[in-house]
Amino acid sequence: MGTAQITTVTGPHDRTEVARVPGGTPAQVDEAVAAAKAAARGWRELAPVQRGRLCAELARRLRERAEEFVAVEVSETGKLVGEMRGGVQTSADYFEYYGGVVRALFGETIGLGAGDHAFTSREPYGVVGMITPWNGPLTQAARGISAALAAGNTVVIKPSELTSSTTVMLAQLAAEVGFPPGVLNVVLGKGSQVGAALVAHPDVRLIAFTGSVETGQLIARIAADRLVPTILELGGKSANIVFADADLDKAVTSALTVTVGAGQQCAALSRLLVQSEVYDELVARVGTAMAEKTPGERLAPMTTEGQFEKVLEYFEVAEKDGARLVTGGHAVQGALAAGRYVEPTVYADVTPEMRIFQEEIFGPVLAISRFEDEQEAIELANDSDFGLVASVWTRDIGRALRVAARIDAGQVMVNGGRTGIETPFGGYKASGLGREKGFESLLHYTQLKTTVVSTQ
Ligand code: NAD
Repeated sequence: MGTAQITTVTGPHDRTEVARVPGGTPAQVDEAVAAAKAAARGWRELAPVQRGRLCAELARRLRERAEEFVAVEVSETGKLVGEMRGGVQTSADYFEYYGGVVRALFGETIGLGAGDHAFTSREPYGVVGMITPWNGPLTQAARGISAALAAGNTVVIKPSELTSSTTVMLAQLAAEVGFPPGVLNVVLGKGSQVGAALVAHPDVRLIAFTGSVETGQLIARIAADRLVPTILELGGKSANIVFADADLDKAVTSALTVTVGAGQQCAALSRLLVQSEVYDELVARVGTAMAEKTPGERLAPMTTEGQFEKVLEYFEVAEKDGARLVTGGHAVQGALAAGRYVEPTVYADVTPEMRIFQEEIFGPVLAISRFEDEQEAIELANDSDFGLVASVWTRDIGRALRVAARIDAGQVMVNGGRTGIETPFGGYKASGLGREKGFESLLHYTQLKTTVVSTQ
C-alpha cells in the first residue's frame, strides 16, 4: 500500500507552480492492471476496423482540442508553442496511422503438404505496461498507446511525475470518444514506486519504456526475471557527419536542430563531425547561427530543475576537458533568469576522450569534431556507447551509402532525408531494443501464433 504523495511541478519559464500531481500507490497499479486485464478479451476480439475507427476518432478530437493540449504541455515542458503544435498533430497522426494499418496486419499460410494446413496469426500480448519520460510526454504516450491499442492490447501507462497532465487528458479524451473502460489506464507517481510496481506486476505481459539507459537496464533486469519482452527507447549521442562536398547551407540548418526542444530529445544530433577542408568555415557559421537562437523566443528552457543543473555541470566539464567554447556556455541572465534557460552552446575541437563527446547532455549543446577522411568519420561516429540516429551530408551518393551502411545506428538520414511516423525508430547498442513507429511497431506489440490443422 503506502500513502500517495503530491509532486509539485514548477514551470520551466519562471519556476512558479504549474501542476500538483498525486503520487499513486502500488495498490492503484494493481487496480489499473486488473481493469486492463478485465477489458483485454473484449478489446482484442473486436474487429481491427472497429478499434481503428476509435483511434481515428481520437485523432480527430485531439486535433479539435489541440490548443488545450498545447497550452498545458507548454506550461509543463517549456516547449515553444510552434514545436508543441507540431507535437499534437504528430500525436493525432499516430492514432490515424495505427488505426488504419492495423487492418493490414495479417499472418501467412505455410505449406506442409497434403494433410496439414498451417497458418500464422498476430495476437496481442494482453496488458502492456508503458512508462514515459518528461521530455515529450504527449507524443511519446501517443506513439506507444496508438500502436499497442490498435494491435488489440490494453494499456496501463505511467507518465513522468514531472509532466503527467497531457497523458491524463489523452486518456480522458479516449474515454469520451468511446474506448471501453479499462482499455487505457493511467497511473501517476514516481518511477521508483509506481513505475517499479507496474514493471513487476505479474499480469503485465509486455513492457514499453522510454527514458534513460540506467532505468532501462533496471527494467530489463526485472523483465528478464519475469520473461516478458521489452521495447526500450533510451538515450543517444548522435553524429551529424558533414563532408567537404556537402551542401553547407543545408548542413548548417541541420546542425541547428540540436536546439529543437532545447536539445531535450533522444534523437538530437548533438555531435557534429566536420571534414577538415570545411571545418573552420562550418564552426564559424554554426556558432553564429546558434547564437541567434534567442532564448525565450527561439529556444525553450530546460524542462526540469535537474536537467537545468545537469547542463550547467556539463559547461564546467567541457571547459575542464579542454573543449573550445565557440558560443554560449552559461545560464541565461537578466529578464529570463527566473526560468530554467541556458544559452545555445557550441564547443569545437571536441575529441573522443572528452565527456561531452561521449555523454548525452540533453540540452542545446553542440560538440564539433574534425575528421580527415571517410574512415575516420565512420570511426568517430561509432565511437559511442549509443546508436540511435545519424546524419550524413555529401554529394557523393556512393559515399553516402557506404557511410550509412557502416554506422551503428537504428536510423540514418542522408542529405536531410525526412523521417515520419511511417519510419521505424529505435536504437542500436545502448540506445535500446525494439522499434517504435512504422508498421514494425505493430509487430513488436503482437506475438506470433502458429496453428496447424490436420485435414486428414
Ligand atoms: P528516466 O529514466 O529517469 O525516467 C523515465 C520514466 O521512468 C519516468 O516516468 C520515471 O518516473 C520512470 N522510472 C524511473 N525509475 C524507475 C524505476 N525504477 N522503475 C520504473 N520506472 C521508473 O528518464 P528521464 O530523465 O525522464 O528522461 C530522459 C531520458 O529519456 C534521456 O536519456 C532520453 O534520451 C531518453 N529518451 C529516449 C527517447 C527515445 O525514444 N529513444 C525519447 C525520449 C527520451
